[in-house]
Amino acid sequence: MNLQELRNYVDEIEAAPLGALMDKAGPGVRAALKRSLERQELTAEEGLLLYTAEGDDLSAAIKCADLARAEDVGGEVTYVVNRNINFTNICFVGCQFCGFKRQRWESDAYDHSGQAILNKVGDALARGATEICMQGGINPEMPDFKYRDLLRTIKGSYPEIHIHAFSPMEIMFGARRVRMEYPEYIAMLREAGLGSIPGTAAEILDDSVREILSHKKVDVATWVDIITTAHALGVPTTATVMYGHVESPRHVVNHLSLLRDIQKQTHGFTEFVPLRFIHENTVLFRKGLVSEPPPKGTLDFQMYATSRLFLRGQINNLQTSWVKLGVELAALTLKAGCNDFSGTLMEESITAQAGGDAGEFVAVDVIEEQARAMGRVAVERSTLYKKLYGKKAPNGARPITTVPSPQHQADHHACGGSGCG
Ligand code: SF4
Repeated sequence: MNLQELRNYVDEIEAAPLGALMDKAGPGVRAALKRSLERQELTAEEGLLLYTAEGDDLSAAIKCADLARAEDVGGEVTYVVNRNINFTNICFVGCQFCGFKRQRWESDAYDHSGQAILNKVGDALARGATEICMQGGINPEMPDFKYRDLLRTIKGSYPEIHIHAFSPMEIMFGARRVRMEYPEYIAMLREAGLGSIPGTAAEILDDSVREILSHKKVDVATWVDIITTAHALGVPTTATVMYGHVESPRHVVNHLSLLRDIQKQTHGFTEFVPLRFIHENTVLFRKGLVSEPPPKGTLDFQMYATSRLFLRGQINNLQTSWVKLGVELAALTLKAGCNDFSGTLMEESITAQAGGDAGEFVAVDVIEEQARAMGRVAVERSTLYKKLYGKKAPNGARPITTVPSPQHQADHHACGGSGCG
């Protein structure tokens, strides 16, 4: 389906009565959806039914996801004014899905100085940012306490900015480098100004899949250990999934189950961010390990609708990704369970360098307009989902329209390939 057809498709679902859509769904899907609407927890088998739903089954799932979203978090579409800073693209890890990493001798490798990063933070603040999202490649020549020192540098000049930084992969690397245990290391980062951690580097939380994607990457047990340690220390994280590559539907549902179980114990996830795999400039695609992914649309609606219903009552903020899907399709997912439009980012080329074409900055005006087109109202929020009614992002975050991404040299990282997350 092209974008207009997808638009018509979600509009028809929105206009149709729930009963009519439920009547057309198959008995298994109908039973699962009914249970979810009654706020009962879905089983993995029910999750699988929803994630693989097509036709009338998928239409009913989308309708129920939209209703659950309205009941659980209301109609406002939240977004954060933030800036991505990917401080280095030098990385030895070699994830097969990554188009961002460089070897240090490559002509376009970079490692920003502290002053360059400070300039970016200052610029972001002047443009209304409340958050810096900071991730980087895993640089084997990194100074031992670089992550801590970056936080201190930024907080020393700009104490008001929220720093959302360092994926579990970076935390593992940083802690091992200085031979510290995770609780001690994360507490040190928290004291230096770390506000929250992106739950990236999750990809699919299954070691057999991870072995194909990147055998040097943080394994499932370590990812869970770092995330739950952060939660125990009062450092919230996001949660992500990367879908549409070598994984099976069962892997996705197991991933969702694991996140739901963690959340029941810690309540430390602020949001869930599904991230479509962007294949073009990746080794995975070049080697033929993945074929051309399915066209944008059905798979994304399956992902978002299932996430809303499967995580219901545990993780209630579901973030769409305009970086992965493009602004217009991301807006349509607001009718399939999403309530958050992610951030302005100001710079994003992780996805661009993997072949994404959505651009690297979306203005507040564009988010507001897209939300309005979906019959909703956009509201700025903080990283931790405090609504910032009445705050008006000045100049830079407002008038600029989406910038197309050239293959350029800027700031960006790819653990999870996220715009941030
Ligand atoms: S995804 Fe992150 S860790 Fe993996 S190769 Fe790319 S930059 Fe390195």
